[in-house]
Amino acid sequence: MTLCDMHTHSSYSPDADRDADIGSMAETAARLGLEYITVTDHCDCNFWYGENEYEYPQYQQQDSMMFGSGHYAVSSIREAGRLKEKYPQLLCGVELGQPLQNTRAAEAVSAMKELDLMIGSLHMNTGKPDFYWLKYSSMSRSEITSLLEDHFDELLEMCRVSDFDVLGHLTYPLRYIVGENGIDVDMNRYTDIIREIFTALIERGKGIEINTSGLRQKYGRTFPELGYVKLFRSLGGEIITLGSDAHKLSDIGAGLNEGAEIALEAGFRYTAVFKQRRPEFIKLG
Ligand SMILES: [Zn+2]
Ligand SMILES: [Zn+2]
Repeated sequence: MTLCDMHTHSSYSPDADRDADIGSMAETAARLGLEYITVTDHCDCNFWYGENEYEYPQYQQQDSMMFGSGHYAVSSIREAGRLKEKYPQLLCGVELGQPLQNTRAAEAVSAMKELDLMIGSLHMNTGKPDFYWLKYSSMSRSEITSLLEDHFDELLEMCRVSDFDVLGHLTYPLRYIVGENGIDVDMNRYTDIIREIFTALIERGKGIEINTSGLRQKYGRTFPELGYVKLFRSLGGEIITLGSDAHKLSDIGAGLNEGAEIALEAGFRYTAVFKQRRPEFIKLG
């Protein structure tokens, strides 16, 4: 099966391995027989700083791992843009986090001509830390419920107005709530808003990804899992990408076969690859 890894992080992402330089990633992808690899380093817009005037002092949580990821993302995009000449399977992307929490930073990244793909992600609700940092064991059930309600509300707004191509890892908070902390969540209460999210994406010609990182974490499922991929398809969704969300060389391509099986089971016959922000379709199976 022809597979493409559309979500990977190089050493330009503060939370990725230092030896994951973009050239080594492209070589690893070639060795694995992947048709394409898109480097999508973190640009958490609310932690933007550096080159220019887009500083937002209220978000200067300098203890955050992602502080300054906007600055690194710009460097990553420029380097991947240059290296595309050398590596035929390399594509240039970005994982744009929280675009609504600093729209000027998001616009500055969107304007970069090198970009093949923009993944839109939400790693933290406005004014809150990344879901990675929250202490779920000391939260009540209703606090977790309202945290997720806020998350999906913010995600819906992002899908209605922000500039990106593919929604990143829908259900990301479950990695920590369910996977790391073993807390059950009644996801049925969010079905309606997830349907609205999908409808907004479809109306704007955008897709979702099957993010396979959960398969190698305690969560043990993809983000999102099969049921949501089916729902997206049933509502008319046509664009689906597969991404390992690798943060080290050894995870490149991980789980893509399982992701492709989920896409097929949900009724997709093609996955998408983005070039110059336009989808091209590759037959599954
Ligand atoms: Zn992410
Ligand atoms: Zn990622």
